[in-house]
Amino acid sequence: MKSIVVLGSNFAGVTAAISAKRKLGNDAEVTVISPTSNFLYVPSLIWVPFGIRKVKDITFPVEPMLNKKGVKFLHDKGVKVLPDSNVVVTEKNGEIHYDYLVVATGASLNFDILPNLNPKDNMIQCIVTPELAEKSANAFEEIVKNPGPVVVAATQGASCMGAAYEYLFNLDKYLRKRGVRDKVDIAWVTPEPFLGHFGIGGIVGGQTMLEIFMKLYGIKWHTDATIKKIEKDNIILGDETKLPYKMSMMIPPFLGADVMKNSPELVDEKGFVVTNEGYQHIKYKNVYAAGLAVEVIAPFKKSAAPFGVPKTGFPSDVMGKIVAENIKNDIRGNGKFKTMPFGKIPGICIMDAGKKEVWILTNHLFKPRQFELMIPNVFYNIGKLILEKYMLWKNRKGLVQLP
Ligand SMILES: Cc1cc2nc3c(=O)[nH]c(=O)nc-3n(C[C@H](O)[C@H](O)[C@H](O)COP(=O)(O)OP(=O)(O)OC[C@H]3O[C@@H](n4cnc5c(N)ncnc54)[C@H](O)[C@@H]3O)c2cc1C
Repeated sequence: MKSIVVLGSNFAGVTAAISAKRKLGNDAEVTVISPTSNFLYVPSLIWVPFGIRKVKDITFPVEPMLNKKGVKFLHDKGVKVLPDSNVVVTEKNGEIHYDYLVVATGASLNFDILPNLNPKDNMIQCIVTPELAEKSANAFEEIVKNPGPVVVAATQGASCMGAAYEYLFNLDKYLRKRGVRDKVDIAWVTPEPFLGHFGIGGIVGGQTMLEIFMKLYGIKWHTDATIKKIEKDNIILGDETKLPYKMSMMIPPFLGADVMKNSPELVDEKGFVVTNEGYQHIKYKNVYAAGLAVEVIAPFKKSAAPFGVPKTGFPSDVMGKIVAENIKNDIRGNGKFKTMPFGKIPGICIMDAGKKEVWILTNHLFKPRQFELMIPNVFYNIGKLILEKYMLWKNRKGLVQLP
């Protein structure tokens, strides 16, 4: 029996672990190691700052579900991987041996690019983790009580612009609901060369649509922008524009998780795992990666304000399934190897745009594409709600074979 160790228990890790167990049955023992005992439906974190969701509404315990699917769960944290010895060093359980390793450890947040960017310094908010999203809810209540200008930004090097847009439009919506929108100037700062680039080269009509939203909601925008300085009352942009603020939310760049930064044989300088198109490590053939943990090189030329590629939920799921398939192929020795370049994975996403939502559908994440569409849904954000319910149901049941 082969031992498959999966590091990480969210989208990519759960998908890879259960898919591998389904394909291999008693031929493999699959163990998920993770410091978080709850599955977190990350996309709904954008609603936590506005009190629309509590973290408990979008989480569930992962161990019982994994166990039902025949997968073991070890509530522990990977500290580093020793790929020459096929070992993961963990915090509580020491060295764990693997025949195959799947790295699905997501990302860490790089607040070090600018002084005062780290929410610990109590100047800037962030929504990327449950704790930070909850803290942002207090900041929102403060701005309602004591209104003033707000700056929402994706910093230089960021890759998760979609979530920042969603926060921005929801901020506008809930400030209106609370009757103080006219007392709050909102500025949007992004490294994208144009609105709606999203780190995937944009979608036909997307720029116009987002410019219309910004004008409709009265939001001033700054594209191709970097943040130079975070002062107590002002954000200074790279072109010296001074934006006063009373509250600010920023999405920083992502790096690989700490465990992978401690495993230099497997990662690039950012701590992301370097794989081929079957999500297998380029040198260590029994090591695979899926989701945010994978290095993806952006296909567009570097601009003045750098930014990265969004590794969203759907591609994370696809990568997890490919990894499971390739481990099965290797164990069975059938000579098959499945590949799917990241840029050729379809793009499927729903962006909450405050009083409306936008469905983003493309046949490939990167251009060239034969199909790309941004459809505004005038019926409020019902699609995003249905997707949340579906994804929580699917993952709670461990039905990873579903799309
Ligand atoms: C605010 C926000 C909104 C988003 N909205 C959308 C959206 O609308 N649509 C969409 O498709 N995508 C969205 N995304 C992106 C989506 O959340 C990611 O694609 C997805 O979470 C990636 O899954 P993952 O499993 O790779 O990483 P994660 O979900 O980050 O999971 C990483 C896992 O690794 C574990 N881990 C970390 N360190 C260790 C360690 N040392 N040892 C073992 N395990 C470890 C963690 O505990 C966790 O279980 C959003 C992201 C954010 C931040």
